[in-house]
Amino acid sequence: MFKTTVTCMDARINPFEQLGFSEGDAHIIRNAGGMAKDAIRSLVISQRLLGTRNIAVYHHTGCGMVTFRGPELKQLVKWARPDSTACAEQVDAIDFLEFTDLEQSVKDDVNFLKESPLILEETKITGWIHHLETGEVFALCSLSKRPDLSLADYSSNIAHKTQNRSIPNNISTT
Ligand SMILES: [Zn+2]
Repeated sequence: MFKTTVTCMDARINPFEQLGFSEGDAHIIRNAGGMAKDAIRSLVISQRLLGTRNIAVYHHTGCGMVTFRGPELKQLVKWARPDSTACAEQVDAIDFLEFTDLEQSVKDDVNFLKESPLILEETKITGWIHHLETGEVFALCSLSKRPDLSLADYSSNIAHKTQNRSIPNNISTT
């Protein structure tokens, strides 16, 4: 089944290689952090107009999203344009979606998609973490908006990437 992956714009992330996709297999939606809320516009188009039913949230270690706080970033933008009310208003309207806990960010995004009324009921949603240090990919969690649906379809696609690698004890699978 055609799939959608939401992942970070970090230049070290190569979802085709790391998740075992071939050209034509998947929509790749990228933004700072790979945040689902930021991707919702593209996800609606991917699902309603192009037929995708699997969404993978794919975040990574060493992500820049843990290195700043939104209020500080907003202040930086305002300092660069101190005379611009429009600049201040527009940057204040942005939620930069920074996070402090990588695993929690994946779980939060998976839950956000599960709860979103914009995401189709038959969607399978999975959460993954890519470890830049080792190149490994770990499954973190999987959810279906409809519990009667199997999640095997997506998992089998990347089995070759995770075989013989157990999920570390400090990562819980839900
Ligand atoms: Zn990142």
